[in-house]
Amino acid sequence: MNIVLLAPPAAGKGTMSELLEKNYGFIHISTGDLLREALHQENEQAKYLKEIMESGKLVDDSIIMNLVKEKLATSQGHNCIFDGFPRNKNQALALDELLASMSRKIACAIYITVPKEIALKRTVGRRTCPQCKKVYNIYFEVSKPKVENLCDTCQQMLETRTDDTELVFEKRYDTYLKETAPLIDYYQQKGILKEVENQNKEEAFNNIVQILGEL
Ligand code: AMP
Repeated sequence: MNIVLLAPPAAGKGTMSELLEKNYGFIHISTGDLLREALHQENEQAKYLKEIMESGKLVDDSIIMNLVKEKLATSQGHNCIFDGFPRNKNQALALDELLASMSRKIACAIYITVPKEIALKRTVGRRTCPQCKKVYNIYFEVSKPKVENLCDTCQQMLETRTDDTELVFEKRYDTYLKETAPLIDYYQQKGILKEVENQNKEEAFNNIVQILGEL
């Protein structure tokens, strides 16, 4: 079963994917995470990626498709969740084609919604442990670190993503409205779109589990 998570920035795609991965053994394919790994290489492509990601625009489709192909090649026989991909119509068509060539298809596209003010707080308050990758948020009691700026488990200094600023958030949100939101219609017309509101993590996850159980 292959699932697409479609959502504005900071709606909780990453959190829902992690929960599905941990509880149901899905393979989590996040193009954002794959790109952040590619940023560590010291080459021209890494420079290009940094510039684009910090501008809130979309990375070139061919780079994205290569990353997804590589990752999918190692996931035959597994259920996959696509997080932050596809981000535009071209990627959605390319994904359909790629999956069809592997005799696979998308079972469901889950459209996760959240009010924009909450998404903004989730973005600018997000802090990540560089070692265990645990994600915290300084604006929400339940997800604050116990000691300011330190990971509860590793005691490492927490980091802020360079694209987690209010300015970049606004740009990413505009890009989402222009490029990604049209995919809501795309999947609705295929009859595989489901909507889940994510103001509360547990409720949203239970709703997703219920949707998947009914497929
Ligand atoms: P994310 O972690 O999914 O929010 O992605 C962070 C940034 O990586 C985005 O703002 C884009 O610049 C880039 N990115 C991630 N996924 C894609 C994609 N599927 N297509 C194009 N750009 C992407």
